[in-house]
Amino acid sequence: MSNQSRPRILIIYTGGTIGMIENPVTRSLQPFDFTHLIDNVPKIRKLDYDIENIQFNPPIDSSDMSPQHWVDIARHIEANYDRFDGFVVLHGTDTMAYTASALSFMLENLHKPVIITGSQLPIGEVRTDGEENLITALQIAAATDMMGEPMVREVAILFENYLWRGNRSTKMSADNFNAFKSNNYPSLAKIGLGIHFNEEALWRVQAKRPLKVQYELDTAVMFLDLNPGITEAVLRHQLSTPGIKGIVLKTFGAGNAPTYAWFTEAVKEAVERDIVILNVTQCVNGGVHAKMYMSGNQLASTGVVSGHDITSEAAITKMMYLFGLGLSTAEVRRYLECSLCGEVSL
Ligand code: ASP
Repeated sequence: MSNQSRPRILIIYTGGTIGMIENPVTRSLQPFDFTHLIDNVPKIRKLDYDIENIQFNPPIDSSDMSPQHWVDIARHIEANYDRFDGFVVLHGTDTMAYTASALSFMLENLHKPVIITGSQLPIGEVRTDGEENLITALQIAAATDMMGEPMVREVAILFENYLWRGNRSTKMSADNFNAFKSNNYPSLAKIGLGIHFNEEALWRVQAKRPLKVQYELDTAVMFLDLNPGITEAVLRHQLSTPGIKGIVLKTFGAGNAPTYAWFTEAVKEAVERDIVILNVTQCVNGGVHAKMYMSGNQLASTGVVSGHDITSEAAITKMMYLFGLGLSTAEVRRYLECSLCGEVSL
């Protein structure tokens, strides 16, 4: 906490439905500016906080979010880290879990809250969820423990009734107000009449170190999603994508893949070409247990790394981060097997 008694919060508005208005000609929603957003939440003034804001110019639909935007968000956080007690990032829901995951890796030694939120209905709509989400996100960003330390010391997503760890979250619904869920990790807080933190689930480290931001992200990574109709030609084509260094292989069930010789051979050859392949389940809940079935065991024998219960969003952004560090293939493989900031249960 800063020495001031009023919590100081920085809002970084990137865009998303929360700030959108309807285009009168096309009738589709498009991002609008921050003043409009704040004018629609007069209650914010009731919070006795010092709030400043930075906005993307222009604000974007989160489908346009790219690693360069993650770098921009991280730069704003780093440049303002000492001046503020917490950060609220307003973001579209579509790629929110990717941004939350990427930032969790980029913001090394984070000791302050970075709360990402947005909404399913624009803040100007009568039934909007945006107003509540914004106010609760601000309150969480300002929350401290008995020692005056920030309650949340990680990147988290606040949506409707829950606070989730950012790198454990997935967008689950395009319709429901409770749009996010962490399928393999408990909520960090439940929002009801009060904000009830789940202290055991919150990220804690022994030593407090200065924030260090990792800006290099390597995008030479891709998803390869299995389906029962995948052919050798399609598989080999994808595994030979020019310049690719890392592949998140989305497999069936507990990390299982076809046992046909052509499949195993093609994957093995890619691993031998030094491509890092991470096995992640297509299931929304649970993880990879390579030894459980012969089909998983055979895949593991090719040198594919187990992603355990990591989300796809965290898997792909973790690869971008690790390759961005300039690590060797062996080191990337090693770190993929570790939890860096609570993204995987081991
Ligand atoms: N398309 C919007 C976005 O991701 C959806 C939303 O914000 O809910 O920016």
